[in-house]
Amino acid sequence: MGKILHVPFVDLGAQYAAITPEIDQATKKILCNTDFILGQDVGLFEEEFATYCEARYAVGVDSGTSALELLLRAYEIGPGDEVITAANTFIATAFAISYAGATPVLVDIDSDTYNIDVSQLEDAITPRTRAIMPVHLYGQPADMDPIMEIASRHDLVVIEDACQAHGARYKGRRAGSIGHAAAFSFYPAKNLGAYGDGGLAVTNDEQIAKTLRMLRDYGQNKKYHHIVRGYNHRLDTLQAAVLRVKLPYLDTWNAARRQHAGLYNELFAGSPIVTPIKASYAEPVHHLYVIRINNRDKLQAYLKTKGIATGIHYPVPIHLQPAYQDLDYQPGDFPVSECYAKQILSLPMYSELTSRSIEHVTQAITDFVATYDDILEINSTT
Ligand SMILES: *Cc1c(COP(=O)(O)O)cnc(C)c1O
Repeated sequence: MGKILHVPFVDLGAQYAAITPEIDQATKKILCNTDFILGQDVGLFEEEFATYCEARYAVGVDSGTSALELLLRAYEIGPGDEVITAANTFIATAFAISYAGATPVLVDIDSDTYNIDVSQLEDAITPRTRAIMPVHLYGQPADMDPIMEIASRHDLVVIEDACQAHGARYKGRRAGSIGHAAAFSFYPAKNLGAYGDGGLAVTNDEQIAKTLRMLRDYGQNKKYHHIVRGYNHRLDTLQAAVLRVKLPYLDTWNAARRQHAGLYNELFAGSPIVTPIKASYAEPVHHLYVIRINNRDKLQAYLKTKGIATGIHYPVPIHLQPAYQDLDYQPGDFPVSECYAKQILSLPMYSELTSRSIEHVTQAITDFVATYDDILEINSTT
């Protein structure tokens, strides 16, 4: 018996080990100059990220959730308004809509891309609809062209939830640069992560950017002059300094993720595992590598015994969360989201992942599959 090879779900320590001197120098600088709040690095990071994202303006905030909420507020979307988003997303997408006072309206996901099903989008539009919030789930962009076309026909704002898609491209354009505005999260485990919470909004609209800058900082346009009732939702200078060190590595890190996804796909070929489908329009960044399989819970428990950590993104669709009971959705309303919630499993994925670890994971899954005949059902039912 050999020693168990442990494969964590993400490994933030491995990334820090690769860039330690730069991080230490950048953070020490802030500790010494005490430029903690809206310091120089915040503005510099905003410029650098806007350039990276091929958008005109970027405004740093304290989380991805705040970026989504403040964007809705900047567009004056609130009580009485409806915002359309996908049924399978992280709860923060829906919560941001609720925080702004608006109502989330859900649409099922596409069975190939797991992103909002564009063919069902128009049916969800009512006279109260003000915005569409597509989510680029797992790092693959939603199908933005038809979304923008429908939005323009109905005079709706499009706010991309790009919290899992830093650096992804849609038909050559950066995720986050296609809608009217977009939100990014720098939660530590995201493709670009801070050492704590952080987020950012991008837009090409100068007025929206100006409003965001007020909203994140107590609604003031100069100190103690409060134009609107804003918030304390600023991005810390320390986090901006960390993010400035990391941003130049992002494309390399994303390329490594793409390679890992390719190896997973290759090793699963011919097996009953359903691997991610790359949309023809997309250059994804594989924030998560999500497979589908029957007996998902048993597989997850089995992998745990083999030292392999996995996740489920997400086990309960938004409309079945107790927090959204009052939206009055029923089980069966979004069949694809509900079916997939029982089958999806996120495998270890981070840029420092090794081929040896990927082979260990796929071998363990292959061994498991060999013991269950009914796993084969998944291909015939979908
Ligand atoms: C992470 C995430 C968010 C929220 O970001 P925070 O920085 O954690 O607030 C929103 N939407 C999606 C899709 C996310 O993955």
